[in-house]
Amino acid sequence: MEHIGIFPGTFDPPTLGHLDIIRKAKKICNHLIIAIAIKPDKKSLFSPEEKKEMLQKISSDTDIIAFQGLIIELAKQKKASFLIRGLRSESDFEPEFQMAQANKRMGGIETLFLMADERYSHMSSTLIREIAYFKGPLHDFVPKEIEAMIRKKFP
Ligand code: ADP
Repeated sequence: MEHIGIFPGTFDPPTLGHLDIIRKAKKICNHLIIAIAIKPDKKSLFSPEEKKEMLQKISSDTDIIAFQGLIIELAKQKKASFLIRGLRSESDFEPEFQMAQANKRMGGIETLFLMADERYSHMSSTLIREIAYFKGPLHDFVPKEIEAMIRKKFP
């Protein structure tokens, strides 16, 4: 049976932690879709097009799309078998648990949780934006292919 997995997220910007989850997810799914969530009510540093370009640079063999609305609608449209999310810490658990329950109830879709590697469990896009703002070193946090694109935002 063909397993299609969707990894949804904000990716503002993608980090080494995201990339680790993408690599692990590719081993589980026959086909992985990375879904960039467009949230008009939330201000993003990067546009959906820039996020797509960055994700293509670090995971060129993956289907990458931007979407707006409920993830269960995208899952139905793509005939996805499951959603994939990463878990970094205990504090990730509660909101992720709630979202997974809601998606299961509304769309009948399961969420698979992959544990963050301990090297990346402290990483978030917010942290990366902060380091970049203060012109700190980014090489331990983001894939080198996208470092220049992040730097460009803080000339
Ligand atoms: P969202 O706003 O949907 O949480 P994010 O881009 O912040 O979007 O995260 C997308 C997914 O990637 C989430 O499941 C999150 O837990 C996971 N994730 C984020 N950072 C890391 C990391 N450092 N290690 C593992 N998973 C991560």
